[in-house]
Amino acid sequence: MYLKKIELSGFKSFPRPSTLEFTTPITAIVGPNGSGKSNIAEAVRFVLGEQSIKSLRGKRGEDLIFNGTHAIPRQSKASVAVTFDNTKRIFDVDYDQVSLKRIMHRDSTSEYLINDSRMRLKDILETLSSAHIGASSHHIISQGEADRILLASLKERRGMIEDALGLKIYHYKKLESVRKLDKTEENLDQVEALKKEIEPHLAFLEKQVEKIKRAELLRKELADLCGVYLAQEESYLNQQKTHLTNKQEVPNKELQDIEKQISSLEATLKNAQTEPASEDILKIEQELQALRQKKDTVSRAFGRLEGVIEYERQKIKEVSEKSHTDENTSISVISIRKLQNDIVLYQKQADDEEDPFMLKVIIKKVQSAVNSFFTKYLTSTPANEQAVSLLQSTLKQKEEEKQNIEKELTGIQEKEQALHEEHIALRQKTELEHNKERESERTLFALQNKKTELISKIEVLKVKQEQLDTLEVNFKSFKEDARTLVGVEKIEIVLVPEGAEIESRQKQEERKWAIERIKIKIEEIGGGGSDVMEEYKEIQERNDFLKREIEDLRKSAESLNGLIKELEEKIDTLFKEGVRKINTRFQELFSLMFGGGKAVLNIIAPSQKRSKKNEAVEDLLSDEEFKEHMEQEEAEGIEIDVALPKKKVKGLQMLSGGERALTSIALIFAMTQVKPPPFLILDETDAALDETNSKKYGEMLKKLSGQTQLILITHNRETMTHAGVLYGITAVEGVSHLLSVKFDEAQELTGGV
Ligand code: ATP
Repeated sequence: MYLKKIELSGFKSFPRPSTLEFTTPITAIVGPNGSGKSNIAEAVRFVLGEQSIKSLRGKRGEDLIFNGTHAIPRQSKASVAVTFDNTKRIFDVDYDQVSLKRIMHRDSTSEYLINDSRMRLKDILETLSSAHIGASSHHIISQGEADRILLASLKERRGMIEDALGLKIYHYKKLESVRKLDKTEENLDQVEALKKEIEPHLAFLEKQVEKIKRAELLRKELADLCGVYLAQEESYLNQQKTHLTNKQEVPNKELQDIEKQISSLEATLKNAQTEPASEDILKIEQELQALRQKKDTVSRAFGRLEGVIEYERQKIKEVSEKSHTDENTSISVISIRKLQNDIVLYQKQADDEEDPFMLKVIIKKVQSAVNSFFTKYLTSTPANEQAVSLLQSTLKQKEEEKQNIEKELTGIQEKEQALHEEHIALRQKTELEHNKERESERTLFALQNKKTELISKIEVLKVKQEQLDTLEVNFKSFKEDARTLVGVEKIEIVLVPEGAEIESRQKQEERKWAIERIKIKIEEIGGGGSDVMEEYKEIQERNDFLKREIEDLRKSAESLNGLIKELEEKIDTLFKEGVRKINTRFQELFSLMFGGGKAVLNIIAPSQKRSKKNEAVEDLLSDEEFKEHMEQEEAEGIEIDVALPKKKVKGLQMLSGGERALTSIALIFAMTQVKPPPFLILDETDAALDETNSKKYGEMLKKLSGQTQLILITHNRETMTHAGVLYGITAVEGVSHLLSVKFDEAQELTGGV
């Protein structure tokens, strides 16, 4: 026994809490028309999650809530609870007892509880389907719906049979998978749309990044090239600076020396110029002039005196000649020697004398000496001796005078000589000094020339220095530019080792051009920097993420499709297998009811139904009807093929009401036997049966109750006899009352049918 009890409160005609307990395999609910029996069957469907208010005979949710009488006010909510025994774990929950409860409020909202815990409808349905129970299932056959399965469309019928076979759980799973698949596909569409949305931007960023990377490569190339260029340039500048410094050192030093020499020479020359003109020479010359004038006077006096002396001597000679006849006058050797010495002395003087006047004087002296000698030895007459003696005395006097003058003259001459010599010496000295000066001037001139030469040389070197400085300034600014453009750390400058060859300027120029060309290229590329890279990274990550999402979603869709296919296959297999089993039971029960005949369920494939006949019918249908018709046509359905024994007519439409009831009961029971549900509620399924068939029906119930708990709402006496417990329902002033009754009471209650 699985269904233990039903508790109603506020549901339809049951305003008060009412409980029906089920303790026997067959329980019958009996009572007069309108007492509320069917409300109990509906209460069970309600609590099992029925969503169709219409199928519960209402229009709105509040139609299910007790509406009130003048004695009892209307209820705010309807609640129904069913309790199952779960010791055999027919439900997939770990409780020995499972109680389901549904409460409906007047605003049509429902609450669902399992063992007093609030649940979603979905959870309730899943829990029920695991126990092969459902609100709209075949195991609650409502009043007048016994032949519903016969009237149902092929598709509905298939649903009923699937339900009976317990395939609903797979349908739920399939439905859930389909929903998941729909959601997955929806997500996939969204993600694909998002991906599509960012793709153009990503493509744009990719191009930008490509540009940036190209610029980076160019910058690398530029850095390398700049490194070599700068190294070469710096090495060249260093070398040139050293070279120039060395070159400048010598002329600068030389210039310094020359300048020193020049200033020293200039000082010397200035001094020489500032020295007074040779005053000494002038003085000597003046003295000489005075002396010469004096010499001239003295000479003239001497000449006159000589003339006088000559005259005297002539006179003496004349006088002497008159007295001197003796040719043998003896002449002392001393006198001769004296004469000789005088002449030698005068000769020496004449040798040294250049002045013609002085030479004349010397000649006169020689003549005088000779005359004196001869006068002495040739004048000796006594007559004349007096005259001669007088003359001689005069002569002597004159000669003494002459000697004095001569002495004076000699003194003058000596002084003149001395002055002359001094004059010459001074003149020579001055000359020497002039020569020296001229030499200094020549040297100064040469030095100045040399200085000019050096200055021009230094100027040339200075120009070179300036050029070098300009080069250095350019080098520094180039270096700065390069470092700004490619980054300081990226330029490696390895200087050319000392002594190693530095590349030619032309090569450097070419390199510089190459650098400029790269710079232009980088400028042309332009583009953003780190922000673009960051954005690209971000968008790329997003794109990758979306790609992964798409892959995951596709995989998930694939696996869901696989699962759906698997479930479909399982449903199909179980369905076919179940139909085969139902057919066996259906045939047995049909034969039992009708004493033979044929009853079979045929599975109809959609293609099989597309006949010409149907196509003709389709032309007559409205759009809506056509759609419904097509849905049915397209579904795989179940066709019931029956043939009564000994009757030629075939098909459901040819059956009488009782025959239809029996056929549907046979089918319901066959379905129940193949996959017995935990309980079966049959609401006046037996209403159309005659006594004979009621008996057969009763037999089948008995048999069936071995497999399934039965709750029968009935007016049928035969049926009542099989019930272990009978509940009687009475309605007093629109309110249903529940009571446990005995068989006789039950009969009475139902009016003894
Ligand atoms: P029968 O034997 O004729 O089939 P029954 O015993 O099955 O009758 P139900 O169909 O179960 O009777 O009960 C119908 C009764 O329930 C009606 O009298 C109806 O007025 C009453 N009823 C239905 N809904 C409500 C409601 N919301 N509030 C009060 N009474 C209601």
